[in-house]
Amino acid sequence: MPENHRLIEVQTIEPTRHGSLIEDELGAAGIHLVRVGAEGFDAPKTALSSKLGIGPDSSARNIFRQLGTKNRKHLLSAMIVARKTASATCKLEMSDDTVKKPGDIQWLRVHVRFDQSDAHARWTFVAVDISGEQLALENLKAEEEHLRHIVEYNPQLPWIADANGQIIDFTDRWLNSTGMSRNEAVGEGWLKKTHPDDIERVGGTISRCHKSGEPFDETIRLEVNGTYRWMRARGYPRRDENGNVVCWYGYTEDVHEKVLIDQQILWDAEHDSLTGLHNRAYFSTKLEKAIKAAPANLKKVALLLVDLDNFKQVNDLMGHVAGDDLIRKFAEALRAAAPADAAVARLGGDEFAILLNGLNEVSEAVEVAEAILRLQGNFDFGGRSVTYHASVGIGMFPEHGIDANQLLRHTDLALYKAKSNGRAQIQVFAKEMLDDMQERVAMVNRARTAAREGRILAYYQPKVCLRTRKLAGFEALLRWQDNLGKIHAPASIYAAFDEKTVAELLGKTMISHIFDDISSWKSQGLEFHQVAINASPVEMRQSDFVTRLTDEMKACDIAISEIEIEITEGVFIGTNADTSRKSIDQLHKAGIPLALDDFGTGYASLSHLRNLPVSTLKIDRSFVQDLADNTSDFAIVSAIIAMGKASGMKVVAEGIENKTQEDLLTDLGCDIGQGFLLGKPIPAHDVAWLIEHWEEYLERNVQPPKWAIDVPMRRANDAN
Ligand code: C2E
Ligand code: CA
Ligand code: CA
Repeated sequence: MPENHRLIEVQTIEPTRHGSLIEDELGAAGIHLVRVGAEGFDAPKTALSSKLGIGPDSSARNIFRQLGTKNRKHLLSAMIVARKTASATCKLEMSDDTVKKPGDIQWLRVHVRFDQSDAHARWTFVAVDISGEQLALENLKAEEEHLRHIVEYNPQLPWIADANGQIIDFTDRWLNSTGMSRNEAVGEGWLKKTHPDDIERVGGTISRCHKSGEPFDETIRLEVNGTYRWMRARGYPRRDENGNVVCWYGYTEDVHEKVLIDQQILWDAEHDSLTGLHNRAYFSTKLEKAIKAAPANLKKVALLLVDLDNFKQVNDLMGHVAGDDLIRKFAEALRAAAPADAAVARLGGDEFAILLNGLNEVSEAVEVAEAILRLQGNFDFGGRSVTYHASVGIGMFPEHGIDANQLLRHTDLALYKAKSNGRAQIQVFAKEMLDDMQERVAMVNRARTAAREGRILAYYQPKVCLRTRKLAGFEALLRWQDNLGKIHAPASIYAAFDEKTVAELLGKTMISHIFDDISSWKSQGLEFHQVAINASPVEMRQSDFVTRLTDEMKACDIAISEIEIEITEGVFIGTNADTSRKSIDQLHKAGIPLALDDFGTGYASLSHLRNLPVSTLKIDRSFVQDLADNTSDFAIVSAIIAMGKASGMKVVAEGIENKTQEDLLTDLGCDIGQGFLLGKPIPAHDVAWLIEHWEEYLERNVQPPKWAIDVPMRRANDAN
């Protein structure tokens, strides 16, 4: 500051009583007048002077010095400006080292006035305590910083839109991640980075919410750093006092991982993981919905149940990896064979379902089923090859089921029928299948009850050497007795032989009866030769069938030559066919003779025969029946006999009912005959009599007096 310059020399307000009153009021409001006389600072009375620690003797120079370098510089600059423009303002910050006792004053705004209207230059300084104001300003700044950091480090990306939903501003991070400039993104520019498939949806939601003023919440895909990511966009309106929306605040949140996980969870809940087809739960819901909607459209719904015929075989022979592979391959082919809008599901195992909507005729469903039937082919795995094919059951809504449950049950019956009809078949549900089913259930119940109540009996039908007419052995045949004591043949419980637990129970019961009977005949010294025992496919599929049989033989002291096991071709079909094959090999290893029953009726008889350790062939009754009149039956029978002989097998003819049949078979070289002509099945307790009176019985038609039930009656024309 130039020394010659008289800086502080003018007092603007006289210290009158009046003036001092004004000064006090101003002081209370934080405004202080600093009066400067020619002698120096005249301020002892003001509150400011005490706050600033300025004593009565303070000279202007002193005060000026006390302000500190920085404040002095500010004040001086203001004075230089004031000299030119008459007034100026500066802000001074009081600190410990500028004034002795700053008290609560931190900031002063000093208004400087310069007046040179007369000879003397006058300076007026008005100091206003702005500590409070400054503090508020600083707090505001801190608050702002605070918010800025919260926003900056928040994973959500905020934006602001005007009342019409046009975006006004995005945060820098929003712009950085999308790679858009603020100018590009504002308004509706951000839609350019939105996935095309989401634009319509999010656009609709936003315009709806802007109309209603409701907050919105949408999940969309936004292109971020070059790839689409799932974002949750939420917007909330801000309203004025009249309730009108002023603007919208919102944020976009990256929820990509969460959406992917949610999608995966949803996918898992609705799909089969092996094939990618829909699963049972999803399919059931779809079916229910289709059935609900169908009546209104006057259309039909078709349910197709598809089952791979020889899947179990692949699974068991080639292993689960191969099984899975076949399921996947078939699922793919099934999807391709079904119409694009059909729902295709894997219900479990090797069972699939197809839902066809909007049909007019059952023939449309049959057409699809025919395409599925054509899917059969070769499945190659690990150097092995298996042919696969499927069976299809069809059920239509409304005619075959009034609801999804019933339709499923009935279509299942149609599928069952298709499979039992010989596989690779299509069956449309028919009411008779229900009767069949009910009859099957009744059969199983009948058999189960009879077995539990000890009403299963073993009957024995003689087998005769055709050349000598001597007794060659017996076949054990199951009979059951009803509550009234009437004896029934297995026809009335036939389905029980297919039902695992009951079939096993029947088998065990029969073997126990047969072994008891054999032991008893042996103890009486009777020459019964051999008893043929029928084993159902279900029994042969038990892995411990042979062990249990041989254990029991040992326990009852039965020799291997005293029995023979009769199996049918059924053991090679269906589930666990390879376990049956193992049982066959075990029987062979144990030395137990094996007979192939009902020979000629199965479709692969000859191919099976080649690699089976079978010692006896039983020609089915159906061939024997018309032997005399039907030339093709005659040809078949003679071929079987010739082939059996050539392979060193014993050939048994079943169902010989008359002498002509017996003679023809004898001439053809058939070893053994069985049939009503030679003896009907009889109860165990009559076997002793039969053995002892065999020749009389056969030649002279002598019958035991006590045969009351199931008597082997000879027909009049067979009498001799
Ligand atoms: P299958 O093994 O073919 O038995 C021969 C069937 O032909 C027997 O019927 C027998 O009574 C009948 N039959 C024998 N000779 C003649 C004849 O000259 N004319 C006519 N019309 N029929 C004759 P059955 O006893 O009713 O048995 C039927 C089927 O039930 C058997 O056929 C067999 O598959 C099954 N079965 C019988 N007992 C058992 C058993 O203990 N276990 C198993 N798993 N199945 C059995
Ligand atoms: Ca048999
Ligand atoms: Ca038979």
